[in-house]
Amino acid sequence: MQKEITLVLTPKQASSEEFYLPVLANQLKVAPKRITYAQVLQRSIDARQKQVKISLRLLVYIDAHPPEEEKTEFNYQQVSHREPVVIVGAGPAGLFAALKLIELGYKPIVIERGKDVNTRKRDIAAIHRNQGVNPDSNYSFGEGGAGTYSDGKLYTRSKKRGNVKSVLNVLSFHGANREILVDAHPHIGTDKLPDIIKSIRQTIIHFGGEVHFETALASLLIGDQTIKGIKTRKGDTIDTKAVILATGHSARDVYQMLFDQQIALEAKPFAMGVRIEHPQELIDSIQYSCTLRDPYLPAASYSLVQQVADRGVYSFCMCPGGVIVPASTAEDEMVVNGMSPSLRNTRWANSGIVVEIQLNDVNADQKLAVLNGLKYQQQFEKLAFKNGGEGQIAPAQRMADFVENRLSKTLPESSFFPGITASPMHEWMPGEIRFRLQEGFKIFGQKMKGYYTSEAVLIGVESRTSSPLRIPRNPETMQHIQITGLFPCGEGAGYAGGIASSAVDGENCAIHVAQFLKK
Ligand SMILES: Cc1cc2nc3c(=O)[nH]c(=O)nc-3n(C[C@H](O)[C@H](O)[C@H](O)COP(=O)(O)OP(=O)(O)OC[C@H]3O[C@@H](n4cnc5c(N)ncnc54)[C@H](O)[C@@H]3O)c2cc1C
Repeated sequence: MQKEITLVLTPKQASSEEFYLPVLANQLKVAPKRITYAQVLQRSIDARQKQVKISLRLLVYIDAHPPEEEKTEFNYQQVSHREPVVIVGAGPAGLFAALKLIELGYKPIVIERGKDVNTRKRDIAAIHRNQGVNPDSNYSFGEGGAGTYSDGKLYTRSKKRGNVKSVLNVLSFHGANREILVDAHPHIGTDKLPDIIKSIRQTIIHFGGEVHFETALASLLIGDQTIKGIKTRKGDTIDTKAVILATGHSARDVYQMLFDQQIALEAKPFAMGVRIEHPQELIDSIQYSCTLRDPYLPAASYSLVQQVADRGVYSFCMCPGGVIVPASTAEDEMVVNGMSPSLRNTRWANSGIVVEIQLNDVNADQKLAVLNGLKYQQQFEKLAFKNGGEGQIAPAQRMADFVENRLSKTLPESSFFPGITASPMHEWMPGEIRFRLQEGFKIFGQKMKGYYTSEAVLIGVESRTSSPLRIPRNPETMQHIQITGLFPCGEGAGYAGGIASSAVDGENCAIHVAQFLKK
């Protein structure tokens, strides 16, 4: 017999089968030995009461054979002599497109401006030591894309859970913990992601695909509004009938190239602000109503949103037990982001707090001004750089000082490696962002008692939340509205946000490429 049941447990009871099996047997009124298997379908935390509870949804087998271990089958096939498809960018969108093309019998040729995941680590370490930013190899560019050195949160608001499941299966097949298949908010951790990415690359190459690092797209070769091939920065050309353009939202040169080649772009709303860092203990005490977190509970997270003067102000990519990282892609700009190791065990909790930017805020709604949002974003990053310290030392201000318009005399310790310096962010930040952040922080402090505090520090700036541009495509064919054979894909195309949805978009683009080439 099989039975689905939800148990509401203490954190300790939920932490291991050893503890929850007796509770389960008791609830089902069966002897524990009659339970042959209990599969966790979903785990979620309920912190609304004083005593935090874990909700565990289980599929229980009573007096029945446990199920065979579910094996996910992939139809990877040898494609070395099959029709080539060029994929630009080895982020989640590009890599998942490549794997799907292999399943569909096409040869992916992936070109990536950055380095392989191991070599890339050295350039990232150099940024941490404040020894310069390599414009082709950093937190955004390189094998695995922007998601590689990240929290690896795989949560997506996408309603198409089936597609997300397929992405989670691929990740699990390439080495991610199977827990991601059941967690309500799955995440992998920055210490685990590089090996998974490497394993995906090995699959691509093993089945006859190609991956070329330090190879940047310079231009698209187009004739009769149809893709003929691509040209790399080194001057090489590759002939192909289909290009999946998955270059992410930090590749400003790619948007410029498209603009120069008169390929239609559309401005879209985006968001910018700061990253805020609190002591994790403080966030735990607020969210779990405790002085010390139960050792069986994970570092607490939060999600905040508020309308201020017609624009959304919200938390973005919250990283419990994480660190703030320097995510600039050029020497003369300052961009920060956040990530967590798999155990989420640092002393800090950080999150982007950003303000929605609409087209009319930057006059980007006309054809010629389509790049205005991008320029506004760039100016914001340059301002932060100018007002920071030397190199990648970031401008910072205590939260209460920012809201009350005064320079911080001292700064708290921070996780940000290159270092932080006190800066009057309230003075140089564009008024429309500053004002909304200030109001937003006050309201967040009312919603989450203790959140508004001098112990929290703002670090500038969080500017790359989503793309200020869309590369418009036909929703039926996923091809660019103007150029046959061009498939804009992932976050840079403006059709995804985050690792999971970019990967889903990559798979879908590959399916449409196959349909296009079959004709
Ligand atoms: C520090 C950090 C933490 C993050 N944390 C999370 C998280 O926890 N969860 C989550 O869902 N999302 C997170 N994100 C966002 C997530 O990484 C992106 O949404 C996702 O990677 C987008 O996937 P993509 O494939 O569309 O683009 P990208 O990952 O940006 O990949 C694009 C690739 O294209 C390459 N490229 C660019 N231009 C060229 C060119 N001209 N020629 C050749 N190659 C080129 C780039 O080098 C890059 O590798 C984080 C991002 C950062 C920076």
